[in-house]
Amino acid sequence: MQLKPPSSDEHSHKFYPGLAYYLLDSMGEVSETLPDMGLFSTDPLTAKLKESFGFSKFRPLQREIIEETLAGRDALAILPTGGGKSLCYQLPALMRQGLTLVVSPLIALMKDQVDGLLENGIKAAYLNSSLDEGESKETWRQLYRGDIRILYLSPERLMVEGMFDTLASLNLEFVAVDEAHCVSSWGHDFRPEYRSLKALRERFPNVPVLALTASATERVRVDIRQMLGMDDAKTFIASFNRPSLSYRIIPRLSPMKQVFEVLADHKDESGIIYCLSRAKTEAVADDLLKKGVKAAAYHAGLPAAQRDKRQEQFVQDEIQVMVATIAFGMGVDKPDVRFVIHHDLPKNIESYYQETGRAGRDGLPSECVLLYSSGDAAKLRQFIDQASDQTEREVAGRQLTQLLQFAEGSECRRVSLLRYFGEEYKDDRGKPILSCGACDNCLTPRDEVDATEIAQKFISCVLRINKHSGFSVGLAHIVDVLTGAQHEKIKRWGHDSLSTYGVGRGRAKSEWLYYGRELISRGLLRTNPERFNVIEVTPEGLQVLKERRSVTLRAPLVTSGLTSDKKNEQKRRLGAIDYDTALFERLRSWRVGVAKKKGVPAYMVFSDATLQAIAASQPSSLGGLEGISGIGEKKLSLYGEALLEVISG
Ligand code: ADP
Ligand code: ZN
Repeated sequence: MQLKPPSSDEHSHKFYPGLAYYLLDSMGEVSETLPDMGLFSTDPLTAKLKESFGFSKFRPLQREIIEETLAGRDALAILPTGGGKSLCYQLPALMRQGLTLVVSPLIALMKDQVDGLLENGIKAAYLNSSLDEGESKETWRQLYRGDIRILYLSPERLMVEGMFDTLASLNLEFVAVDEAHCVSSWGHDFRPEYRSLKALRERFPNVPVLALTASATERVRVDIRQMLGMDDAKTFIASFNRPSLSYRIIPRLSPMKQVFEVLADHKDESGIIYCLSRAKTEAVADDLLKKGVKAAAYHAGLPAAQRDKRQEQFVQDEIQVMVATIAFGMGVDKPDVRFVIHHDLPKNIESYYQETGRAGRDGLPSECVLLYSSGDAAKLRQFIDQASDQTEREVAGRQLTQLLQFAEGSECRRVSLLRYFGEEYKDDRGKPILSCGACDNCLTPRDEVDATEIAQKFISCVLRINKHSGFSVGLAHIVDVLTGAQHEKIKRWGHDSLSTYGVGRGRAKSEWLYYGRELISRGLLRTNPERFNVIEVTPEGLQVLKERRSVTLRAPLVTSGLTSDKKNEQKRRLGAIDYDTALFERLRSWRVGVAKKKGVPAYMVFSDATLQAIAASQPSSLGGLEGISGIGEKKLSLYGEALLEVISG
């Protein structure tokens, strides 16, 4: 069974035929993309991109968004995590004379962004509650001198009395609203302060606004337009495909062993392990620490100061692995996270996408591994059934079913993820692709097994329970009968007297649960949504039993890891390049030294992508270094000579 995009009220990244990305006008119609001026390297935007940020090429839609805002028009940009949203307002800010204001809800990120800009020689500053009086005053002085090009403000600061007048006197020319979904009460991170942005709009009707977000259901998108008063804005929606991420889902058998197997491929590389409970994060972090891995737990139960400290240490590479609940993520902008492990089942497909999306923002190959347990699924289902609100129960139940179908399905992970977001996976020429070649299902396709006996036992058990009791029961109870469990309900209902009681003792409960869901997706069984999702036999299932037809099903998820051949194949598919690994390591340790001295995170000095490119081409002159992505004017003059020295060894 294929995953279908959910109905539009819940989710709706709408996609229209075309290439890797689409440009929609405000009426939702496809309009023509702007002429590609990137053909000539002399075009002013590309030149500025290289000079100020060191990049040679725009990521999808960056150029179009920048051109739209430079033309003085509003725009709404929906780019996935790692899509390069910041650049969409930072670069136009440099092309203007006046001040660019960036409204951002995340105080920790403001500092990172400003530090990164300063590293590139771009004058930026922020004002929020974390600054002391002296620091604030100094920033104001610089602002009045006209020294600042980009100012970051929290929404609370923006609403301080007199701020609008001040902005007017500072020649405000452009406003970017980061994390724009915060304006919507339908989004996952509603911030009431964002509502006051409309007042800013009314005060500066001629200043163009760029709203940016990575998460946009139709509902949220409508809200953003309305709340920010930007009805005529064009919407730019990038593909949600993350080409550098590999997805793998394996049954959780011995979780710590499996975690260490992943870690073995990521020596000294940053990663996140997501767990469902606070206690679990502590336990897993302890196990890692005992084995000498620099790990720490992160969850909402920790004091805020400790959470901040750990986040900071993670960004600074002092903590290698963060073991976290979903409290960790938003506000983590670390581009070189190389792996994300889900120790427990995520809440739904959207959460899975967002959480795995924190890996590989810099575009280098990164790994996402989900340790799957159908026991988790059963627990979640119980939890959901206890919710008092019926709609909530239904939505959560449906989302869980979709997640299980995704996890247990044998289709290419990338194809099914994108389909969930309403997007078809396509190549550069717009031709549909059915296999990414880099996920577990593409690299190690699962066998079909003869499941005739399994199907017979299962179906007859469902029939017998119904005949005996006069009602149907849920999947978990059927499996309990098959495996001969002895709980109160089984005794009370007399299900231990059935001839099918205990006939499935030879298989684990989790295996029976898996096959039960397979029989549902094959249409031999079905769930009845009107009656608490009890399991019923379909007419086809009845025939299979009566006529003793043979049934084949997919084998459960593959438990083994990838062979080194497959790992190489995977890396190649994700766009890994060949480089001198010894030189790369030397460059990395040089970078640690520089970052320590300057007190900035290592990735701000140079990204891993830039260091790999250097280790691949090994330039011997400043001119050679200049051509490498990530080396702009400022960084060339600061670090060029030192890099050449490291290269020559
Ligand atoms: P987002 O906010 O959309 O998740 P960011 O703005 O944090 O993405 O960018 C993610 C990473 O990609 C950053 O490290 C950034 O420097 C890098 N990046 C952005 N644009 C480009 C580009 N055109 N070429 C290369 N790297 C880029
Ligand atoms: Zn695939």
